[in-house]
Amino acid sequence: MQWELDGLVEPGAGQARGFTALPWVREAFIVHAGIDPWPGTLNLRVAGDADAEAWQGIRSRGGAVVPAGDAASCDAETWPVTVTSGARSAPAAIALPRVPGYPPARLELVSPVGLRDLLELADGARVTVAAAVAPPGLAAVVFDVDGTLVDSIGAYHLVASRVAEPHGYVVEADMVRRALDADVPFWPQILGDRAGDDAFIATLRTATRAAWPDILRENVRCFDGARAALQVLRDAGLRLGICTASGGETFAALEAAGLFGFFDAVVTAADVTHRKPHPEGLVQCLARLGVEPSRAAYVGDTAVDVRASRAAGLWPVGVLTGAGDGASLAAVGVRRLVRDVASLPRVFGLGG
Ligand SMILES: [Mg+2]
Repeated sequence: MQWELDGLVEPGAGQARGFTALPWVREAFIVHAGIDPWPGTLNLRVAGDADAEAWQGIRSRGGAVVPAGDAASCDAETWPVTVTSGARSAPAAIALPRVPGYPPARLELVSPVGLRDLLELADGARVTVAAAVAPPGLAAVVFDVDGTLVDSIGAYHLVASRVAEPHGYVVEADMVRRALDADVPFWPQILGDRAGDDAFIATLRTATRAAWPDILRENVRCFDGARAALQVLRDAGLRLGICTASGGETFAALEAAGLFGFFDAVVTAADVTHRKPHPEGLVQCLARLGVEPSRAAYVGDTAVDVRASRAAGLWPVGVLTGAGDGASLAAVGVRRLVRDVASLPRVFGLGG
């Protein structure tokens, strides 16, 4: 259900820092809102009588229940939201502890980023808090593949490690993640002094291509729950598409899981002249689906995906199963985060 209300930033008491760091609290917000909390919360006071009444109504309908994870805590309720200040916005979740006497006009927000810094908020600043649900009239959902539908980031790390090791280079998982998240060239950041050695990089790329088929076959799978989620979206009448910057190297995993038939349009690197974050691929995909951008969402795992989605005018949704994380996706304007594709149906108001 769509709703929005305004709030005024209040000074924080700093008490929430320990709470958001508790393992069960982190897990609960990841499950319910796709949010791995930044330490602490942003406190707001609902602004005005009309919004206070609206918040009362939202509370009375109830949010997702987060059961207390230890004897010292209480149950809480949570609602995924988008917080907006001027042209900037960030994903967050309202955390409402079920304690007697909790101030009825207080909104406590958890977010994967420091909201005060990202949105440049001072005490007393006015922000808008809106339910992070899909836009009305949604007709299509387009998916990224690697790290979104297919669990392949670990395989990219494995192949890079195997290729680099004989030359004395160590590839950290984070290096692979960062390169994919921000779409920066991978090998130059690994190679240090030899970053400009184009012939050496060409050798590494050739070795990567040679090693890839075996690693792909043994290590790349679709994420659990992807099939069931796609089925729910299809049954609801949504058209589904794929837009990937790859050449489709990991499509075998989609085929193996029987997922390929769900998609009405598939756009790969071979179809475009500009890579994401350029909107070309998404524009082409939606043209094939016959759906306007304002009636579509794009689901991806990287900051590049979110930027492409915004450039093309789709509603950007981020998953936490790939190269990006909540903070990197929030920094570029993701509107909703989810733990994984299996959690998608409820983002579109389809239960689950
Ligand atoms: Mg990806």
